[in-house]
Amino acid sequence: MKIILLGPPGAGKGTQAKIITGKFAIPQISTGDILRKAVKDQTEMGKRAKSFMDSGGLVPDEVVIGIINERITEPDCSKGYILDGFPRTLIQAEALTEALTALGGDIDFVIDLKADAETLSRRLSGRRVCRECGQMFHVEFNPSKIDGKCDKCGGELYQRDDDKEETVLKRFEVYDTQARALESYYSTSGRYKPVDGNASMEDVSQKVLDILGG
Ligand code: AMP
Repeated sequence: MKIILLGPPGAGKGTQAKIITGKFAIPQISTGDILRKAVKDQTEMGKRAKSFMDSGGLVPDEVVIGIINERITEPDCSKGYILDGFPRTLIQAEALTEALTALGGDIDFVIDLKADAETLSRRLSGRRVCRECGQMFHVEFNPSKIDGKCDKCGGELYQRDDDKEETVLKRFEVYDTQARALESYYSTSGRYKPVDGNASMEDVSQKVLDILGG
């Protein structure tokens, strides 16, 4: 099963992707996670991507398209995958269709998590991530047991630079510009499924699993 998760920053794409991964045993492919690792490891790609990411803008299409084209042909993707944070532009969506057609397949579901700006800002400003294992927490909705420390591995929790207020506003702006184009690209087919992402994590995941038949 091949799934795309669309939605603005803070809509819960990462959280839902992890739930789907657990249920259907298919990998989560997050271009944001792949890029953050490249920045941390100071690879050539990471050095190129860093300034775009720090400012809340998008990394050039050819960089992320290259990441995805390679990743979806790896052995663990043979039964499908969840794309979290890709595609983000029409060019990326078209490149994905082309790559999938060449591989003889297509996307099965496009889940679009919709949420209002107030919900999103609240979720992002409280989000904390473990530096070691990537586990996510929220100071209000899902705090760690010990302040600043990961429950899973004891690693240090930090706030992503791009979750700070000015960058968040820019990320919303960037998202809005592209979202309509993506919605109209996918909404002509029966696989496009909008979901209300303002609800609790459990309610949203129930709706998503109902759609996927899980
Ligand atoms: P995310 O973790 O999905 O919010 O992504 C963090 C940042 O990585 C974004 O603000 C972009 O700078 C960059 N990024 C992630 N995915 C993409 C993509 N598909 N296209 C362009 N830039 C991306």
